Amino acid sequence: RKRVREMAPTYTMAGGKGPNSYSQHSTYQRALLEVAKEKISEAISTKLEINSASNRFNIADFGCSTGPNTFLAVQNIIDAVGQKYRKETQKNPDDNIEFQVLFNDHSNNDFNTLFQTLPPTKGYFVAGVPGSFFGRVLPRDSLHVGHCSYSLHWLSQIPKGIADPNSPAWNKDIHCTGFSEEVAEAYLDQFKIDMGSFLKARGEELVSGGLLFLLGSCVPDGVKMSETMKGMLLDHLGNCLNDVAKEGLINQEELDSFNFPIYPAHVAEFKSVIEDNGCFTIEAFEKISHANEEFPLDPEFLATSNKVTFGGVIESRFGKEAMERTNELYEKKCPEILPELANAKSGMQFFIMLRRN
Ligand code: SAH
Repeated sequence: RKRVREMAPTYTMAGGKGPNSYSQHSTYQRALLEVAKEKISEAISTKLEINSASNRFNIADFGCSTGPNTFLAVQNIIDAVGQKYRKETQKNPDDNIEFQVLFNDHSNNDFNTLFQTLPPTKGYFVAGVPGSFFGRVLPRDSLHVGHCSYSLHWLSQIPKGIADPNSPAWNKDIHCTGFSEEVAEAYLDQFKIDMGSFLKARGEELVSGGLLFLLGSCVPDGVKMSETMKGMLLDHLGNCLNDVAKEGLINQEELDSFNFPIYPAHVAEFKSVIEDNGCFTIEAFEKISHANEEFPLDPEFLATSNKVTFGGVIESRFGKEAMERTNELYEKKCPEILPELANAKSGMQFFIMLRRN
């Protein structure tokens, strides 16, 4: 049975290499990859079964963006596989294994920047596999290790009913940070559909025994998104958009039906989708801490980070001028919410390792 999906706009991170690009503004995400290196290395050494009869090893990064984080992620995996191979066969991996790295993101991702900034001495073959990771982007049984960081909170579409003033799930705010149960439920339903599709596709692509590493932000069970810093910052963004609507640069009605297609899931929600899929064994589901975990309470930093992450969404919906004005207000009014931010409940960074049964 094929599910028909409404066409949804796709949003990507700011391209290029300039000061407001993702490639210059992704150290937050990078910090998690740095602390995950050890865990990934150990997981590969103990959980991955390498078939030494085949010299081809395929790695894919889902939601790779423009680099450079993806290069670090794949290098960590390649180093770990090489080490394991050396130990088990006493042979040099460089002479014996051909690594092929498949970079996946939406087709409108800035793949040019990605390919132009590949590390010069990379020692692996590359290919881009554009397309939504909610569907299959690789041949069946072709993937040995998959990786996906800071991407699974993006939904494929705005949850049903959310943007419709006549629906009980209508959300006048820009996100489900904790006000209405119907809205939160609609977001959760969409997350379940999307995460289910992601796992189904990866289940088909991965060889039996292959590993899938998932990293990113989620919300601890029992904590509401509106109580976390990320939730508060989204509400702050919503308030600034409202101000810009009052100034006339944004149409209020359009804003009232505007929502962000993101959903940071709770731990239990994540686990239940994985269990429902049934193709994977959960080898690890851990809270992992990194140096940049809590954003610094610095308006300029917060505004830039907001612009790099959400600027694209706002610009594509309301135009560049409105986006710039929103960001200006975001920074200017940020000091008002600093005391609240300082008392926010902690979010959670997750490290999940799945083994294909
Ligand atoms: N993994 C990188 C980039 C994270 S940014 C890092 O950790 O730094 C999130 C990326 O996921 C963006 O580049 C976005 O375009 C991509 N993304 C979101 N939804 C996607 C989908 N359905 N299919 C493919 N890529 C997607």
